[in-house]
Amino acid sequence: MRSPTDGWTRCSLGHRHWGLAGAAGLLVHRRGADGVELLLQHRVEWSHHGGTWGTPGGALHPDESAVDGALREAGEELGLTASALVLGAQSVDDHGGWSYTTVLATPVGDLEPADLRLNDESVGVAWLSPTDLGVPLHPGLAASLPTLLPLLG
Ligand SMILES: [Zn+2]
Repeated sequence: MRSPTDGWTRCSLGHRHWGLAGAAGLLVHRRGADGVELLLQHRVEWSHHGGTWGTPGGALHPDESAVDGALREAGEELGLTASALVLGAQSVDDHGGWSYTTVLATPVGDLEPADLRLNDESVGVAWLSPTDLGVPLHPGLAASLPTLLPLLG
């Protein structure tokens, strides 16, 4: 479904971004046996920065809060539901004229990737260690990880 805020824009840093009103994503994290783990989405090849792994997320709709947008996108892309999550802090990566808000969340109970229902924007989902990823990260997430990791507790 198209939104009036769908479209490309250029931020003050000179990047091209999707989402005229900014974008938001959901960073679900948990404490694993060897430290923190992130629930990341493997993005389909045809998407922007396709083939990389990142947080589920996307362009905000008009008058949509970052939390609502992040939850909507996570629901569409991974089948995550708000009732399965405890929301935490938000971190805004402001590029000037465009910003990406990362909403932190932890799962209420066990959250197994195999139980999730992925749409056609996602070719995989997994719990990954940020210190031993072994996969290419979405450049936006890679740039904000140093800011995000200390927030994960
Ligand atoms: Zn930018």
